[in-house]
Amino acid sequence: MKKLLLILSLFLYTQAFEIYPSKVKNANTVLVQITKKNISDVKLSFDKQNINFFKNPFKKDTHYALIPISYYQKLGIYRVIISYVKDKKRVFEGKDLEVIKGNYKSETINVKPSVFKPSKKRKRRTQKEYKEAMKIYNSKSKKLLWNKDFIPPLNSKITSAFGTKRLYNGQLKSYHSGIDFKAKTNTKIIASNSGIVKIAQNRFYSGNSIVIDHGQGVYSCYFHLNKMNFKVGDFIKKGQILGLSGATGRVTGPHLHLSFRIFGTLVDPLQAMKILNKLKI
Ligand SMILES: [Zn+2]
Repeated sequence: MKKLLLILSLFLYTQAFEIYPSKVKNANTVLVQITKKNISDVKLSFDKQNINFFKNPFKKDTHYALIPISYYQKLGIYRVIISYVKDKKRVFEGKDLEVIKGNYKSETINVKPSVFKPSKKRKRRTQKEYKEAMKIYNSKSKKLLWNKDFIPPLNSKITSAFGTKRLYNGQLKSYHSGIDFKAKTNTKIIASNSGIVKIAQNRFYSGNSIVIDHGQGVYSCYFHLNKMNFKVGDFIKKGQILGLSGATGRVTGPHLHLSFRIFGTLVDPLQAMKILNKLKI
């Protein structure tokens, strides 16, 4: 019996930290959790990146970390090392994480050379907008502002999936960095979860754009709006109408483009919501 308990406790010890999923597609998010009493300064390293853990407010004695896998992450097996301080000693544990290829489709877009080769003025504007946005995405509010489940911003059909490779005039230029929902102009769009509005502005590509900072590195972005109901600095509650859909920015018709950034990395919004919603399970 004693032997069995020893084996069982060893088994439990090695299971102290979990990675979900352990096989992850590029541009998906990984949830790492550790449930252990009296530990502090929990850290994680993955492919030369250091990621901080936060306390999971929904689960006792549990810390969590998110690893956003880039769309361009090299496929293969990586070692995830976590460490924490217990009884004044730093303890290390490791587990494998495999990055596999997401099944993303390709599409060809034919655009006029004037759009394809932007003017200097347009380039200056888009570069400025990109820099400003990245500065925001790369800063993280320490406090977790979301509560329970993330919800879709509207109840509608998805017309363009996340991750589709985009070939502009035959050249691979980018990929679809969010999901498009079918939405006639002036359809109500709600906040997927609570947070602080960090961007509420008209931008060249994304048109009228609202970006919500949910805290701890998680951002949701709502593009091409016809009307924005909030301004920078406002607190928005989950389910509140953030604006109305439209066709502003570089689009061919009205729809809602939803994207998610975690620590600045663009990830599949639907998979990210599923992962974030696992925090409380
Ligand atoms: Zn889109």
